Amino acid sequence: MRRYFRGRILHCRADAGAAVVPEYLHDGMLIIDNERIVEMLPAAQALQQGVRPEQCRKLGNKLLVPGFIDTHVHAYQLDMIASYGEQLLQWLDHYTYPAEARMGDIVKAAEVAGFFLQQLLQNGTTSAMVFSTSHKAATDLLFSQAAELGLCLITGKTLMDRKAPAELLDDPELAYSESVQLIEKWHRHRRLHYAVTPRFALTSSDEQLSAAGKLLQRWPDLYVQTHLSENQAEVVLVQQLFPQSRNYLDVYDHHGLCTDRSVFAHGVHLADAEIARLHSAGSTVACCPTSNLFLGSGLFDWQRLREGGVRLAVGTDVGGGTSFSMLETLRDLYKVNQLKGNSFRPLDGFHAITLGNARALQLGHRLGHFGSGCDADFVILDPDADALVGRRVAATQDIADEWFVYMTLGSSRLVSETWAAGRQLYRNPLAVASAVTGAVV
Ligand SMILES: [Zn+2]
Repeated sequence: MRRYFRGRILHCRADAGAAVVPEYLHDGMLIIDNERIVEMLPAAQALQQGVRPEQCRKLGNKLLVPGFIDTHVHAYQLDMIASYGEQLLQWLDHYTYPAEARMGDIVKAAEVAGFFLQQLLQNGTTSAMVFSTSHKAATDLLFSQAAELGLCLITGKTLMDRKAPAELLDDPELAYSESVQLIEKWHRHRRLHYAVTPRFALTSSDEQLSAAGKLLQRWPDLYVQTHLSENQAEVVLVQQLFPQSRNYLDVYDHHGLCTDRSVFAHGVHLADAEIARLHSAGSTVACCPTSNLFLGSGLFDWQRLREGGVRLAVGTDVGGGTSFSMLETLRDLYKVNQLKGNSFRPLDGFHAITLGNARALQLGHRLGHFGSGCDADFVILDPDADALVGRRVAATQDIADEWFVYMTLGSSRLVSETWAAGRQLYRNPLAVASAVTGAVV
């Protein structure tokens, strides 16, 4: 079934190479056919080609953009987000591990997984690379619920075989065999992908990291997700536990886990040699500013890694992060760049959470923009859902100014609708009914 959305549309052109080239149509049309994008074009051109005005859903003052992509988030940390007063290692022991251990209860895990996916949609996020827990059943549930919704999700069972509560530990053999079962069931099923997921170097033995490497040898198109160099105390401990490693990244690299499908969360305290290796491997670093600030981990140096040629992405890292909103995440990324003396332009932020994150996940051919044939994932933002945002947007000069207002003042309040694979999966019950007319969706 074809649908026609007419109004203000913004995306970044994917045919412009690595350059950030935004394309904004004040009176545009997005045409979708079931789960795919047919075309984005000026409305006048679409009407000339025979689209009838009464077929179109008119968006008024709203802004239609690609669905947001979160490259690092934890599904099962909802009941301990906003836990007070610790830095990473104590925070894991006191809050995170107990919360994840409770996901051994399958009924509880099902409820949390459902709530998590709704939080993504409520914030306009249609694709995500997600940490589960070490429980195979909880991971299976997450895949299953994402499949039902038709979301693009990348996840995998967390691998942990030491330095955590017994309820969360597996061993190298179990880590391998349970991962194999989940890969065979879910990898490349609909819009799902599997990520080999050692939590981080501190909770995986060399034997377990070796088992992770064997999974990649068997399925080279698997993703890898893990944490890297988030907190200084963590970096010191990793060096003590792996004295033969040249640096933190080398712990993973030694087992073949640095690939162009690897996403390393954080990377706040990297040595030059690690940046050079991330570049040569084509690996991605997912910057998670709300988490880094909340846990006092440090200030991510976006400019330094970009100049080092590292592929950069942005993630929320809930529950270390403090918001599911990619807009609020950009707000903190901008502020961190301010503190580092770096320039971070508004549309660089827009690119980062759409096409940039899609490319970091090797999915730029079908996500993050409105090229023909892409998945029909998009968000409709309503500036008038927040009186201050609406007022400030009315005074903006161009789309870059407007986007910066969303970054600086925006939140889930602005998300009017979220569509994934051509289906409306969320509609904000609180959004002000602005001038929406035309065909009912
Ligand atoms: Zn994390």
